[in-house]
Parts: sequence; structure tokens; C-alpha cells
Amino acid sequence: MRSLNVLVLEDNAFQLMALHKMLNAIQVFNVLTADSVEVAQQALANRGGVDIAICDLQMDGQDGLDMIRFLAKYRLARALIILSGTDQSILDGAAHFARSQGILVLGSLCKPMSLEALCQLLETYQNLVAQDAQSLPLKQISQRFSLEELHQLAPGQRISDAGMFEQWVAYYQPKVSLEGQLAGVEALVRWQHPIHGLMSPGQFMGAVESAGLIEPLTWRMLELALTLSSRVLRERGERLPVSVNIPPSMIERDDFARQVLALLGRFGLPANVLTLEIVENPSLQTTAAHLEGLLRLRMQGCHLSIDDFGTGASNIQRLLQLPFSELKIPAEFVRGIGDNGRKASVVAGALFMAQKMALSVVVEGVETACDYRALQELGGLTVQGYFIARPMSEVDLLCWIEERTNLGGLVKAV
Ligand code: C2E
Ligand code: MG
Ligand code: MG
Repeated sequence: MRSLNVLVLEDNAFQLMALHKMLNAIQVFNVLTADSVEVAQQALANRGGVDIAICDLQMDGQDGLDMIRFLAKYRLARALIILSGTDQSILDGAAHFARSQGILVLGSLCKPMSLEALCQLLETYQNLVAQDAQSLPLKQISQRFSLEELHQLAPGQRISDAGMFEQWVAYYQPKVSLEGQLAGVEALVRWQHPIHGLMSPGQFMGAVESAGLIEPLTWRMLELALTLSSRVLRERGERLPVSVNIPPSMIERDDFARQVLALLGRFGLPANVLTLEIVENPSLQTTAAHLEGLLRLRMQGCHLSIDDFGTGASNIQRLLQLPFSELKIPAEFVRGIGDNGRKASVVAGALFMAQKMALSVVVEGVETACDYRALQELGGLTVQGYFIARPMSEVDLLCWIEERTNLGGLVKAV
């Protein structure tokens, strides 16, 4: 912790001193303290950005929200801890406000502050950022490209369409049971670009969608994921379930279900190794064609997952209309669940509903041991997230599986 730079903004002199002492006690000596937003802004302007800003919310004059806006605008903190004695709903709202502006929120510290809670939040920071400082710039902004920019190699030199398809690669993120058994992997697209390097979907999916290339991309991902699953079956004699993200518009195609089944047949795989993850789209009505396609896939044994359940159009109404077999709870309902009773209630409620409907539940975005333990207490679900493993290439995944098998199939001990 010695090298961390921390800003503490707190207008109560006693609390400010107490927090400063706690930080020193855990070997954090680079601490900027400020008793008002103006003083904090001046200090950052003079000394530059910090790793973590710990900000009180309620202050006379400019308040914590002004500070969060300032930190986001000038990218002056890698991460934020919110300090407050206020309602949990206000803390959650403030965290959402900060995240919506690209700030990494580690969690909140309730007053009176405990050294243990502070240590846990700093540990979360070390795990998330310090290991991976290159990929987490001060503000989590990733450059978005147009398809034209992505096609350019050099002036006058373009990547061919065939070349572009080859550069779309699958990364795989494990899903594990609470007992630590591998339950399957989700295929997530990356663009291995000769100029821009390895790009994540946020940087290019918009361009791919507007160019009408989402279907070829999806077929490529299906092929890659099934290639992996059949390889594991051939080489290890084990069934590896794979999940692929499918845009809902594709389900409407008359022949989509038949083509998926033909592809499974070509790889000699049973339909139940494949889960299609669908993020519902508010602009799409449930048509008879949509329902027919989904029913056919389910009847043949594929699993259907409602991705990012509880956000946008991935809602209870859709769950009742369509034949889903899995429900995925997104990271935003889970991050910080370990010390947020409201989030725990949301996840427990979704879990209860899913069990009654005989749906399986996957919780995404599990980043910390504390959140993992809170989910263990709820039981009956599968987890996916950086705490278990980040998305990785096929080669890395096969090594990962090999190492776990040597450990008796278990993931990290927690
Ligand atoms: P998704 O399907 O909900 O995938 C989960 C996203 O959360 C992935 O981001 C994954 O890397 C990220 N993630 C997993 N664990 C954690 C964690 O512990 N913490 C945090 N902060 N993030 C975590 P990714 O790969 O950037 O994908 C983003 C979205 O792009 C996906 O959300 C999905 O909607 C879309 N996408 C990805 N691959 C494909 C694809 O092949 N086809 C289509 N149509 N969409 C895709
Ligand atoms: Mg997904
Ligand atoms: Mg999701």
C-alpha cells in the first residue's frame, strides 16, 4: 500500500484526522487532505491526480457530487470511495452517478469508519487496478472506432473483409458453480487488429452493427465456440458448455434455429452444450417468428439465457413471454453486494423467482472475495467475474482448465 496516492475530502476536522491516521497506520503515507471541495480541487491542480479519492458527500457549499463531477471531468482519480453517514439509497445513487461518468467506484465507507472496511476497499483497488494498471487508465474511456478507420492499415491500404473476419477472435470467460466446478465458458468477441491491438466490443461493436456485419460476426463466434467445445471433447473426453451472445434480431430469421442445429451437427456436439445469450432490445416486439425460433432451439435442447436481466428490455415481461432457461444477473446489481443489503435483496429476489420458474442463474461481474462470499450465502447459482477469471484466449483457457483439474477441478480457494 506504501505507494498509493490518496485524497481525503471531509469537512469534519475530527473525521478527517481519524481517516488520515488510519491510512498512515496501514502504511499509506501519500495522503492529501482537504476540508472543502475548493481546497481539494486546488490541491489536485497543484499536485496532480491520485490513485484513490475518498470523498464525503454532504458538505456546506460545494458538495461531494461537485467533487465527483470535477474528478471525472479532469480524470484526477483512478478510483473513488464514497464516505458518508447517509441513506444507502443515496450512497447507491452517488456511486451510480460517479460510474456513469467513467469513475471506478470501489464502494462506500460508512461513518464511523472502520479500519477493516477501509482495508477491504484498498485491497479491492489493489486487486483490480494495480495488477492491471495498463488497462485501467485514469478514466475508463475506450476509444471508439468507425468501420472505415478499422479497415485502414496505412494510407491507401485496406484490410479485406476476409482479413477482418479472421481478426475477430473469441476470448472465453469461465462460469463456475459455488462449489468451484467449471460450469462452462462465455465466448466474448475481441478484434485482434494489426494497428490498434486487441480491442474490446465497446470499441467496435457499434461500427460492426451499423455496417450490417453483426450476423457474420455472430456466426464466426458460434463456430469458434463450438470448435473449442469439440476440441475439449476430443482431447479430454469432457463436455464443455459454451455460451455465445446473440443479437435478438437474428433469432427472427426463419432459418436461424435450423442453421444453429446444423452447425452443432457438423461439430458432432449435442445441442445442450450451447447456450445462446440474448440481450433483449426495447425496439423489438416479440413476434411469432421470434418466438418460433426460440422455441425450436429450446425443443432441440439448446439453452437460452436472458442476458443483463433487470436492465432495459431484459425484464420480467420478456421472461414470461419467451422460453428462457437461464437468467444472467449483471455486474451492476452485484458489485459491492458483500456490504450492500439492498443489492443482496435484489439478487435474492431474482434467485427466488428463478428457482420457482426452474431457471438457472448466473451472476456476472463478481470481482471480490467479499462479494463472492455474499453470493455463497445465497447459494444455488453460478458465478462469472474477474474474481474467478478474466476473459482469456483459447490457449490460456486450456491451461487454466488444466491447472484446475490438477487441483481437483476447484477454482481459487476462498
Ligand atoms: P455481456 O455478454 O454481459 O458480457 C459480460 C461483460 O462483462 C464482458 O465484457 C466481460 O469481459 C465483462 N466482465 C466479466 N467479468 C467482469 C468483472 O468481474 N468485472 C467487470 N467490470 N466486467 C466483467 P466485454 O467482453 O467487454 O463485452 C461487453 C458486451 O459486449 C457483452 O456483455 C455483450 O453484450 C457484448 N458482446 C461481447 N461479445 C459479443 C459477441 O460475440 N456477440 C455479440 N452480439 N455481443 C457481444
Ligand atoms: Mg453475455
Ligand atoms: Mg451480461
